[in-house]
Amino acid sequence: MNKLRHFKKDPLTARLLDQKDPLKEFRKEFHIPKQNNKEVIYFCGNSLGLQPKITFSKINHELKKWAEKGVEGHFDEDPWVSHHHKGKKTMSSLVGAKIHEVVAMNNLTTNLHLLLASFYQPKEKRKKMIIEKGAFPSDYFAITSHMKQKEIDPKDHLIEISPDENGYFSNEKICHAILTTGDALALVLLPGIQYYSGQFLNLKSITHAAHKVGAFAGFDLAHAAGNIPMTLHEDKVDFAAWCSYKYLNSGPGNVSGVFLHEKHGNNPDFPRLAGWWGQNETIRFKMENDFDPIPGIDGWMLSNANIISSVAHLASLDMFEKAGIHELRKKSILLTGYLEYLLVNNTAIKPHIKILTPKNESERGCQLSIYFYDQGKIAFDHLKKNGVIIDWREPNVIRVAPVPFYNTFQEVEKVVTLLTQIFV
Ligand SMILES: *Cc1c(COP(=O)(O)O)cnc(C)c1O
Repeated sequence: MNKLRHFKKDPLTARLLDQKDPLKEFRKEFHIPKQNNKEVIYFCGNSLGLQPKITFSKINHELKKWAEKGVEGHFDEDPWVSHHHKGKKTMSSLVGAKIHEVVAMNNLTTNLHLLLASFYQPKEKRKKMIIEKGAFPSDYFAITSHMKQKEIDPKDHLIEISPDENGYFSNEKICHAILTTGDALALVLLPGIQYYSGQFLNLKSITHAAHKVGAFAGFDLAHAAGNIPMTLHEDKVDFAAWCSYKYLNSGPGNVSGVFLHEKHGNNPDFPRLAGWWGQNETIRFKMENDFDPIPGIDGWMLSNANIISSVAHLASLDMFEKAGIHELRKKSILLTGYLEYLLVNNTAIKPHIKILTPKNESERGCQLSIYFYDQGKIAFDHLKKNGVIIDWREPNVIRVAPVPFYNTFQEVEKVVTLLTQIFV
């Protein structure tokens, strides 16, 4: 927080910060939604990222190619069959992986199922899974369905770690739960960033604890990918998956990213649910039944890529390549820090809220989750009426996510001014 002391609650400061922003030109590369012919303040990139302008032409290009070439498009000079190789370089740089440890395929929940099929292999005593209490329902459903399918009762074998009264998960508590579960623990599946509170967990330390007791550690990075740079390979994380439509701006429901550590990916005998697209590319089209999986996560692919939507993912990854995740993160720390600074130093707002997201910037990304002691719904409606897109979570929480790619310091300032109007 120290470096934020120079922020002043002053529109001049916001304007100056915007002027000095080295990434300011990127905003123009996105479509900003409008209400009543006026650009909205879009603080919902944690839910659905905005559309890069380039996306339209990228998709059109593939539609045109399909129209002109039909099936020949699979094997031309820019072949659809090898589509999944594209974008790997940028994906791997976002999460800190080797090229063959990442791929884009399927959707997030589908990939969680595939990874659980590989990593949840309960044996004798080792049957338990750890998640966080209040986990995203899809993750909870995925996990419990794997247990039930194996006739393991989640009531006895699913451990849900509780946060404190502010929604905070202490790393000590998580690691303690892992260590005390010991050799009864099969798998930890936790978020990178918890969707409700915006807390970024300590992936390395959780993974280390899991490995200490012989369990696997996997992470749902839906809210972390494209938000915070990570070092999955170095941290020895076993697996991870994320969607591409939140901070990765690839469009509603678009393809999911997967990470699989090479120590598993390079083992052809590692259990998996297989498909023909995971087959050794040199023999795939011989259509024979001996499965010789591609080394790395590619050996987990099931199907040929959905080209029309996947190119939107590539379009977005190109922009990440240009901007650089570390540059984006630098701006993000300032932008979210500025929002926090304006909120906690505002005497009108301060008595009515508490920020659930950790103060420590290394424990959070873009998002701040603001709990309202009172008038939360009124504040939400007021913001909405004034063209601010944010999201409401029961019972009393507004999640605000200024995104460094397309949001500005002046937008942050404007939102705090609007909130002040409620409480004066
Ligand atoms: C957004 C999100 C999902 C969504 O899953 P889909 O399969 O992409 O619909 C799942 N889990 C978490 C933690 C999320 O944040």
